[in-house]
Amino acid sequence: KKLNIALCGLGNYAGMLAAGIEVSEYCNLAGIVTGTPEKAVKWKKQYNIPEKNIYNYQNFDEIANNKDIDLVYVVLPSGLHKEFVIRSAKAGKNVITEKPMAISAADCEEMIKVCNDNNVQLAIGYRLHYEPTHLEIKRLGQEKIFGQVRFIEASLGYQTYDILDKKTIVDKNNKSEWRLNKKLGGGPLMDLGIYCIQASRYVLGEEPIAVTAQFGTVNNKDRFSETEESISWQMEFPSGAVANCNTSCGYNIDRFYASADEGSFELSPALSYGPFVGKTSEKELKFPVINQQKTQLDEICKVLLENKKLPNHITGEEGLKDIKIINAIYKAAQTGKKVFIV
Ligand code: NAD
Repeated sequence: KKLNIALCGLGNYAGMLAAGIEVSEYCNLAGIVTGTPEKAVKWKKQYNIPEKNIYNYQNFDEIANNKDIDLVYVVLPSGLHKEFVIRSAKAGKNVITEKPMAISAADCEEMIKVCNDNNVQLAIGYRLHYEPTHLEIKRLGQEKIFGQVRFIEASLGYQTYDILDKKTIVDKNNKSEWRLNKKLGGGPLMDLGIYCIQASRYVLGEEPIAVTAQFGTVNNKDRFSETEESISWQMEFPSGAVANCNTSCGYNIDRFYASADEGSFELSPALSYGPFVGKTSEKELKFPVINQQKTQLDEICKVLLENKKLPNHITGEEGLKDIKIINAIYKAAQTGKKVFIV
């Protein structure tokens, strides 16, 4: 049996997920949720989706009566994850939501509670938890293959908004520009920096206790009136390890470096869609290039099909941890002070 998935929000990343589902072993693209009627027509034809499994944002709650949908995958702007995760849970559907889980810790806590109350499982779309090169750096760090990791550098940045619309002037009402809108979950720390936080945490196998942070230069004041253009931050871990991280919408960067007592390991590209290139102080890191979306979906669906509990590192509690760290980083950048994470 395959798990029947409805994708909610049909933007860029939903397209990548749909391509992953097409080649997956354990799931099937059974439904869609979209606010754009033309997209409904296009996706219906392309993926052979029955009319009865197509919803818009108004009639979405009727999905509760649809036995042919097992799981909703929320791929909307991050500020809308909370509403649609809660509506999915109340409809009795298991739910995956994209990263970041939501835009505040209170929202994450509410999402976790509603999922628990409705007896549905919640996963966050942390695709790198299933990627072989990342599983290896996690092993190298956590099993201390080169001794204790003392220092990490992790950076991810894209000239995102230039790529989105190079020619048009800033238009915050333009849907493609939700990444400039604070309430919709904009800002590179939310969108990209989260990968640096995740990688530092899973390589060390520790939770940061304190952060310091600095906003970067704003080169485009029109575009970045609500959200940061760049931000750098440092995370201190209980072992004494430090992670120094950067994220930006103003420059391209995609790197990870870990320095340990008896060696080092690094990737570049490191956190994007790959293929990843890496080495340790001893040898090259060579792993098969996989379809990250297919692998992530298959692994999650396998667990759900067996009626088992999802592993801790992809659940809502994990999403909440990242949001608490993100909040602390913003606070540290705003105040110029070290912020302890509670
Ligand atoms: P996108 O802009 O391409 O798509 C967003 C979709 O939401 C569009 O179809 C848009 O029409 C729809 N939408 C509905 N209401 C909207 C509103 N009020 N304002 C703006 N758009 C609205 O964005 P995307 O890149 O597909 O990102 C969607 C989610 O996926 C985000 O949470 C993002 O962080 C996440 N994402 C994850 C990865 C990953 O590798 N895991 C990669 C890219 C994006």
